[in-house]
Amino acid sequence: MLAAKFSSRSLALKNWARLMSTSASPSSYKLVVIGGGAAGLAVSSTLSEKLGKNEVAVIEPSQVHYQQPLFTFVGGGLKDFKDTFRPTVDVVSPNAQLISQAAAEIDPKSNTVTLADGSKVSYEYLVVAAGIELNFGGIRGLKDAIGKNGVASNYSPKYVQSTYEFLQNTSSGNALFTMPATPIKCAGAPQKIAYLADELFREKGVRDKINVNYYTGLGKIFAVDKYANAMYDVAKSRNINVNLLHDLIEVDGVAKKATFKIMGEGPQAGESVTVPYEFLHVTPPMKPFDFIKNSKIANADGYVDVNQATLQHNKFPNIYALGDCSSLPTSKTAAAAAAQSKVLKQNLLGQILQGKSPSVEYNGYTSCPLVTGKHKLVLAEFSGYTGTPHETFFFDQAKEHAFSYWLTADVLPEIYWNSMLKGTWNGPSSIRKLTNPTNIN
Ligand SMILES: Cc1cc2nc3c(=O)[nH]c(=O)nc-3n(C[C@H](O)[C@H](O)[C@H](O)COP(=O)(O)OP(=O)(O)OC[C@H]3O[C@@H](n4cnc5c(N)ncnc54)[C@H](O)[C@@H]3O)c2cc1C
Repeated sequence: MLAAKFSSRSLALKNWARLMSTSASPSSYKLVVIGGGAAGLAVSSTLSEKLGKNEVAVIEPSQVHYQQPLFTFVGGGLKDFKDTFRPTVDVVSPNAQLISQAAAEIDPKSNTVTLADGSKVSYEYLVVAAGIELNFGGIRGLKDAIGKNGVASNYSPKYVQSTYEFLQNTSSGNALFTMPATPIKCAGAPQKIAYLADELFREKGVRDKINVNYYTGLGKIFAVDKYANAMYDVAKSRNINVNLLHDLIEVDGVAKKATFKIMGEGPQAGESVTVPYEFLHVTPPMKPFDFIKNSKIANADGYVDVNQATLQHNKFPNIYALGDCSSLPTSKTAAAAAAQSKVLKQNLLGQILQGKSPSVEYNGYTSCPLVTGKHKLVLAEFSGYTGTPHETFFFDQAKEHAFSYWLTADVLPEIYWNSMLKGTWNGPSSIRKLTNPTNIN
């Protein structure tokens, strides 16, 4: 499907024109942004307009930009895969220079980024927004098993369509849904698909023949108690078994068996348990990219080491980071990246244009729309720094709501393409002043 869409003559011509301009372009920029994903584009769109044409370069190796939050809906059969992606050349601002390569090395002392082909790009200011790496290889046997015989993952555009296909083919046995113990993007997505699968099995009349099991390597179903309590209730009402502190370590795709290591400090900690499955949805462990981890801008865990309020690097003042690759201790989501982008742009522009020290502060806002079925959704919004809910609407967002579903399934995808990637969506904080004035955090 991708091939058909992207082999079109117009796209080939566009790519050619853009790439030709890349090779003819200078290798030195006022600002370089590494990553043309949700966070990188939210920032580069505005900054390339403010700083002037071709003062900003975006380094992005992928020819395709995915709106990843839609993957949950695709896996559940509620959206078309084709609605989740657009050519990268179409979503990078025309004011910015697109460099269609991967960054391979960052040297903050010489202010240069080395690209995959060995060439160097220098910058006065750098924003790092390269996301987080999916580590399918971190689970024994998974690379061989995934994409066939009932094993799928909403986390990769390569396997997301298999989720719905395999769910439809499941009519008995165990359906397993896993969440790793590592930090991941959208920590709610591993369980969202379990609720959609439950609904699908009920619609097909096979639910009583299928055990739906959610396994998480963590000790809670969700980080914030208000929403965790709501999700335990949803799981219980659907007869979904929640297995805490069970981390997937091996998949045997031939025998259709998944092995979990028991985490924590209980009497069985360190032991493993093997479970047969008919359907297995895997959320792979994730890790920082090596080119960041091995650079001088990383913290001990491998994420870009930035101030959690200002998003400026803790050692190199001309470097900022946001989104999934950053050290910001909040839940990694596009919603968080939108709120971070506002802070980053104000601080960086103040520094570049007026020589000011960064003073605007990010409060850790993030959001996780926990879809629980068609027209049902728990809209978690909170600060990942304090755990305090920051709900945009006046109703109790821990309750399943059709309005929250409509907002997430139909409104936010349009905001993503038409506003967030263009740098004009900074999250709902200004809307909240009108829609929930008593919670103006
Ligand atoms: C299944 C799923 C469901 C989700 N649901 C939600 C949701 O409901 N709500 C929500 O807010 N968020 C959700 N998310 C999370 C959200 O998509 C991410 O948090 C968000 O995209 C982070 O933005 P980012 O720019 O940091 O990373 P990304 O959007 O992943 O972008 C990173 C970019 O960097 C590029 N890159 C990688 N390596 C290099 C390199 N070496 N050099 C240059 N560029 C590089 C990549 O190609 C990519 O384009 C979901 C994600 C998934 C997978």
